[in-house]
Amino acid sequence: MRAVVARAAAAVDAARLGRRHLELASIGAIGETGLNREALTDADFRARDLVLSWAAARGYRVLMDGIGNTFIRRPGRNEALAPVVTGSHIDSQPAGGAYDGAFGVLAACEVLEALDDAGIVTERSVEAVIWTNEEGSRFQPTTMGSAVFAGRLPLDQALRASDTAGITVATELDRLFKRMPAVGRREFGFPFAACVEAHIEQGPILERSGIPIGAVMAIQGLRWFTVRVTGETGHAGTTPRVARRDALMAAVAMVQRLTELMADPADVVRFTVGRFEVLPNSPNTIPSDVLFTVDFRHPDAGVLARLGDQVASTCQANALGCTVSVEETLDAPPTVLDADVTERIRRVTAEIGLAQMDIVSGATHDAKYVALTCPTGMIFIPCRDGVSHTVLEYAEPEQMVAGARVLAGVVASLAME
Ligand SMILES: [Zn+2]
Repeated sequence: MRAVVARAAAAVDAARLGRRHLELASIGAIGETGLNREALTDADFRARDLVLSWAAARGYRVLMDGIGNTFIRRPGRNEALAPVVTGSHIDSQPAGGAYDGAFGVLAACEVLEALDDAGIVTERSVEAVIWTNEEGSRFQPTTMGSAVFAGRLPLDQALRASDTAGITVATELDRLFKRMPAVGRREFGFPFAACVEAHIEQGPILERSGIPIGAVMAIQGLRWFTVRVTGETGHAGTTPRVARRDALMAAVAMVQRLTELMADPADVVRFTVGRFEVLPNSPNTIPSDVLFTVDFRHPDAGVLARLGDQVASTCQANALGCTVSVEETLDAPPTVLDADVTERIRRVTAEIGLAQMDIVSGATHDAKYVALTCPTGMIFIPCRDGVSHTVLEYAEPEQMVAGARVLAGVVASLAME
């Protein structure tokens, strides 16, 4: 097995990976480094065309499911066995970068071809996947394709989602399917033996640690709250303090207490008040209404429950005479990735002589839904300054090659069993 892992990893072609990255990044490019390739746009379609042209050159079969998730299949010795799958997404934020998602798809294509080039015949088929609409910027929700595939989002609900121009996912998918009439169909929930997603970290930890590979143990969970504080407006010059019900003062007290509640010396808790709206928002009028949001994330379900359950009571306890309503708008549990796949990532990384560290994903990924259907792991590579979802996103070519080599070794080892 060690020999197969080493051969697969060594067959990753750095020049091919670099060339293809530039080619893919040119589709939907904005400025020197940015990317605008939102889901199910013409740019998304052209990017799929490019990836499928690489598949066609190798004679790989392509299959697509009803939400446009696209699977490129390199056959194994035993076609009856469930495949090992690897991939990510090629859609981007409207002003995003050329690495988020794209790296995982490029690395997946590289794995299939590295196996070919190394002359490795795997027991199981190996598939590269492009998940549809991971970003969720044009059509909500995020990770749409993988959620539908895993049976966690009804297809018709996804098809009805529309963009700001009123164009639906159904309309755009229709265009996609018409464009690719020769592509085979695949049903949702098709069984996988295992799945591995490679991705840029989108955070600064690997770079700061000087470590090229992260073995992702978990994707943190998140809870969102919307807090509405209602007080009473009045003249800023004439209303005495005792007669005031100042919604802003109350909201500030709430945010202060929540900040104390979420204080974490280990710096694992992620707590953000990202929206803060004040009415009537006039310099000489007492604020009557405040709306603010809470975004709270943690990898541990227990902490997520314990602290998240105190958000409403903390707000109520600091109302200062105002009325408060706290609505929980999202409750997504953490995902613990498969221990065996994660251990393989550590082992393969060590075998090919690279340093690795365990890491928790701060962002959500398609792997989160795939993990509900099969043993799933994730490999992170560093990105410059931890920056993502902007045109400044960047990973070194050597960092991408290192991630693709580890991915090739891990996929090869899974596909031999
Ligand atoms: Zn992504």
